[in-house]
Amino acid sequence: MDYLILVDAINEAPEGGFTLENACGVMLERQAAAALRAMLETAKREGVIIKALSGYRSREYQQRLWQQETEKLHSGGLSLAEAERVTARTLARPGHSEHNCGLAVDLCTPKADDTEDGFFLTPQSRWLGKSAHKFGFILRYPRMKEHLTGISYEPWHYRYVGAEAAAIITENGLCLEEFLHFYSDEFIQRI
Ligand SMILES: [Zn+2]
Repeated sequence: MDYLILVDAINEAPEGGFTLENACGVMLERQAAAALRAMLETAKREGVIIKALSGYRSREYQQRLWQQETEKLHSGGLSLAEAERVTARTLARPGHSEHNCGLAVDLCTPKADDTEDGFFLTPQSRWLGKSAHKFGFILRYPRMKEHLTGISYEPWHYRYVGAEAAAIITENGLCLEEFLHFYSDEFIQRI
């Protein structure tokens, strides 16, 4: 598994080629699953309970989400093309979500059952900001990087990239696109 894989509006998630495992109630790629378990256990020991809300999603599931949303907007009066354009602002097309490759997890506070827009204000988010990179996770869609990621700020969406890349990305305030553009050759030579 290439943990630095770029999955976005242009690049599709690979179909298969990885093993899924349960971690804290969600399915993730095996190494990402072990990292998530270690991260949430450490947070808990430090008095912060973090819930894993959503991990791997199949392409078919993403397809259903996409259809539901576009059909709702289409029946509300938008043309199909407009409905797809609007939906693409908040939802990845089937095969183009990081959740399709088993390396992304949405995190929340223990009582939440959906993603929280105000998650960045919580102790859980502060703890993750300090510690997630030590476990190989990065905040994948940071604020002020929307022009590079193409995705609105998502304080809940964490992506596994491995601890070395996560440290460089976090310490330098980068998003994954910047890291891949500027640092990956150097990174690959170093290891
Ligand atoms: Zn997500």
